Amino acid sequence: MIDLSVPPVPYELPQSMEAGARLLLHVCCAPCSCAIIEGLLASGLAPTLFFYNPNIHPREEYERRKAEVVRFAAKLDVPFVDADYDTDAWLARVKGLEQEPERGRRCDACFAMRMERTALYAHENGFAWMATSLSISRHKDQAQVHKAGLAAAAHHPEVTFWDYNWRRCGGADRGAALAKEEAFYRQTYCGCVYSQRKV
Ligand code: SF4
Repeated sequence: MIDLSVPPVPYELPQSMEAGARLLLHVCCAPCSCAIIEGLLASGLAPTLFFYNPNIHPREEYERRKAEVVRFAAKLDVPFVDADYDTDAWLARVKGLEQEPERGRRCDACFAMRMERTALYAHENGFAWMATSLSISRHKDQAQVHKAGLAAAAHHPEVTFWDYNWRRCGGADRGAALAKEEAFYRQTYCGCVYSQRKV
């Protein structure tokens, strides 16, 4: 059992990351990101949440997931950035990959698009660090997510992708307990229309 009254263990920060560093955290949903946000604050960092998930289908589902992140961000007084729901661009990006399995090439393209947009925002708004909550989920291939993040940040020399393993030290379990405590809406599929069909 996770005791949520005990503060989370601070993360081991990269040597080049200064205390109080501004970090742009791409967030996919509240259940995945809640423990990470807590952990970043406990580590003395200043996260800004970046919601860019044009993969989520349908629009009602997108709004529902976003609303839960907005609610948690407001509770913790963490800045929240609402990026576009450019779902047509996402569909164009994965065209021809519709039949790919999860963790396959469609997911490569999906992660790449979301990480590229996050890296661009970090570049345009003075964030030296970026990360994503996508990799905490045990349903995701962490290496696949990190590869997309590292590639996206490589286009902007002043931006570094932090490929931290959020699952360390019970991170995923704390997230599950926190999601239950906060009564977050929990989705039953990854997000896109192709993953929805598998339910
Ligand atoms: S299964 Fe998930 S990660 Fe893969 S393309 Fe669909 S929404 Fe993106």
